[in-house]
Amino acid sequence: MSQFELLRRQMIDVQLSARGLHDQTVLNAVSAVPREEFVPTELVEFAYSDSPLPIAASQTISQPYIVALMTAALELQAADRVLEVGTGSGYAAAILAEIAADVYTVERHKILVDSARNKLDDLGYKNIHVLYGDGTLGWPEHAPFDAIVVAAGGPEVPDTLKQQLAIGGRLVIPVGTSLQTQKLLRVRRISEQEYAEEDLGSVRFVPLIGAAGWEYETATAV
Ligand code: SAM
Repeated sequence: MSQFELLRRQMIDVQLSARGLHDQTVLNAVSAVPREEFVPTELVEFAYSDSPLPIAASQTISQPYIVALMTAALELQAADRVLEVGTGSGYAAAILAEIAADVYTVERHKILVDSARNKLDDLGYKNIHVLYGDGTLGWPEHAPFDAIVVAAGGPEVPDTLKQQLAIGGRLVIPVGTSLQTQKLLRVRRISEQEYAEEDLGSVRFVPLIGAAGWEYETATAV
């Protein structure tokens, strides 16, 4: 076993299982994705640390626990089609693609779109589609989605994303008026008009910037 595989196993035990994350489908997905491939070369020794790490464009690759928690909250099935807003490094998209049939992921920084696309191609992912644009608008051409995950914190749940959920679909998104902390919400589409909302706890994300997000990049990346 390589050093990274060992670190990945330890990460799953110490950071995920020990914190009560026992969804075996999610743990299998995490163990299949080489996180060291998604962090900047100079930070590779920290690839399995219990924290977010900086990537290009002043953004972050999220903490492994948060990626696993959000993925579990999506309650994914193998046939699901998933939309991710905030591709970043491409790491979470790879985790989602280990479980679901197709992953559509949108990123507003071109430099991240290009690097994530290259990385995901190199690793052989054929079921991930990366779009350069404002993810608060969703990806209407491929809607409806069985699950939508937003990896940045906005002031409210974008209506456009709710509209792009299939009936029975789940949307997981950090929401809050403070840029320091947000509530992680799961919104379930019950019927054409009805949605149910659950609070999954406090989180801290980089800001969601866009038509249905914040207007400007005012916060430092976390
Ligand atoms: N999922 C990523 C990963 O695994 O590396 C981490 C994402 S990072 C915490 C949040 C990302 O959301 C940033 O790359 C940021 O540029 C992006 N973002 C913010 N607002 C966005 C928007 N309206 N549309 C698309 N991406 C957005």
